[in-house]
Amino acid sequence: MRKILFLDRDGTIIKEPEDEQIDSLEKLEFVPGVFSALKVLVNQFDYKLIMVTNQDGLGTEKYPQETFDIVQDKLIKTLHGEDIKFEEVLIDRTFPEEKSPNRKPKIGLVKKYLNELLDYEKSFVIGDRLSDLQLAKNMNIKGVLLGNMRLDTNEFKVCSSWKEIVELIRSNYR
Ligand SMILES: [Mg+2]
Repeated sequence: MRKILFLDRDGTIIKEPEDEQIDSLEKLEFVPGVFSALKVLVNQFDYKLIMVTNQDGLGTEKYPQETFDIVQDKLIKTLHGEDIKFEEVLIDRTFPEEKSPNRKPKIGLVKKYLNELLDYEKSFVIGDRLSDLQLAKNMNIKGVLLGNMRLDTNEFKVCSSWKEIVELIRSNYR
């Protein structure tokens, strides 16, 4: 069975600026600890990585494809340099009001992974928003919220750093 980490991008792999658009290389900054964490999770725990990201209005005048590509290419190359590879990058480019079935937390984009090959017990969605946790719930796998929110529930965990996420998955794994 395949253990997969479904990773959010903005605010999870890279820092999300206050205006919420990472539209230039100057704004590209990785979340601390993400490289070492993903290396451990991929190499020691045999996880596959899938990126799942909502990019509101990507390809429109306000958010041109080229602007996104500059940042995304650099991101992917930097991760490759660290020997971290994504099996697939899934992008929804709609706005919330379009109510797309592919927009997180809806499962349209990840549906093809929800089959008998997926290890539902050991796969996770990791993200920084409640919509990421809702995605996990909709996929029937566990969710991990990267952040400082204080939320008590059995359905998901909150971790304040990537280091904590590795520890959480490590303990769950045994
Ligand atoms: Mg995010």
